[in-house]
Amino acid sequence: MYKARKVIVTGGAGFIGSHLVEALLSQGDKVTVLDNLSTGRIENLDLLEGKEAIKFHQVDIADYQAIKDLFRGIDRVFHLAARADIVPSIQKPFAYHHSNVDGTISVLESARAAGIKRFIYAASSSCYGIPDNYPTPETAPARPQYPYALTKYVAEQYVMHWGEVYNLPVVSLRFFNVYGPRSRTSGTYGAVFGIFLAQKLANRPFTVVGDGTQTRDFTFATDVVEACLAAADSELRNEILNVASGHPVSVNKLVELLGGDVTFIPKRPGEPDCTHADITRIKKLLGWKPKVTIEKGVRILLNNIDYWREAPVWTPETIADATKDWFKYLGEEK
Ligand code: NAD
Repeated sequence: MYKARKVIVTGGAGFIGSHLVEALLSQGDKVTVLDNLSTGRIENLDLLEGKEAIKFHQVDIADYQAIKDLFRGIDRVFHLAARADIVPSIQKPFAYHHSNVDGTISVLESARAAGIKRFIYAASSSCYGIPDNYPTPETAPARPQYPYALTKYVAEQYVMHWGEVYNLPVVSLRFFNVYGPRSRTSGTYGAVFGIFLAQKLANRPFTVVGDGTQTRDFTFATDVVEACLAAADSELRNEILNVASGHPVSVNKLVELLGGDVTFIPKRPGEPDCTHADITRIKKLLGWKPKVTIEKGVRILLNNIDYWREAPVWTPETIADATKDWFKYLGEEK
């Protein structure tokens, strides 16, 4: 019989976190969510309403005094809480350091004090920056291009350090371009899917960056959740693993699958033309492999498109304005 575990999910009201919480509850675990709702939405956990196995605490994870006692008696921690946008990270580096680095130390220390048995960190493929090799293995050098990427990478270093120095059983998973229902719709100009789905609902053209031939290793949220669960169920320690589909798809292909008109906007500095993960290691060590093809993933999104009805509808003009600092700090004109 399955033995229910007590689990903490930081960032559980966010996009990926809410999918993870759902999966944990459906396998019978008791879940405590820590989230300050800075970008997450309590509505993301609506599906779980009335379930006794979930507890929600609106709290800043960087506030060690406020969170440490919540870890008592907990078996596993999935640490997903972070500020996760590019432009705001350029504009507000302190806020990003606070949530992503200070927040991570606070969660690590809480986990250590409570004697946690498994600690899974949601790292980011943005640490590779513009890599030399495709598919990109975990051994590729870190080259963060903006403060978000830097803070996620620095926090990963802390996670691995806590594994080495304090013997905390840590695994870091580097997610690549995650998409799926409930992907973020915040006021910030962000990930491509939320932008395109809101544009589709409003009958506006898709704002394709550059010429749309750039490719991304889009990874469906439920595949990412399965990787998190597999890592937690394993005996692995001190490992860093890529989590991706391993099949890059061009933005033009994405537009074709979504169906609609297109308008082109300038290519942005600091972004790779391709993201493509080498997923040999996670397949070998965890026996995990991605299941959702891009065709199936897009179909699921289109069936859930109403979620993006409230999302901002971006135009080339509003994007140009919102990304001014991106070009200013990462571009040629410094
Ligand atoms: P999200 O913004 O939907 O979720 C992040 C959650 O963390 C939000 O609910 C937010 O309110 C919460 N949060 C932020 N700062 C906090 C703080 N100081 N205290 C408490 N809660 C806080 O983003 P997401 O896309 O679901 O990302 C989840 C994790 O996965 C993040 O760590 C992100 O860096 C990582 N990641 C995401 C992607 C992707 O493509 N979405 C790719 C690589 C890595």
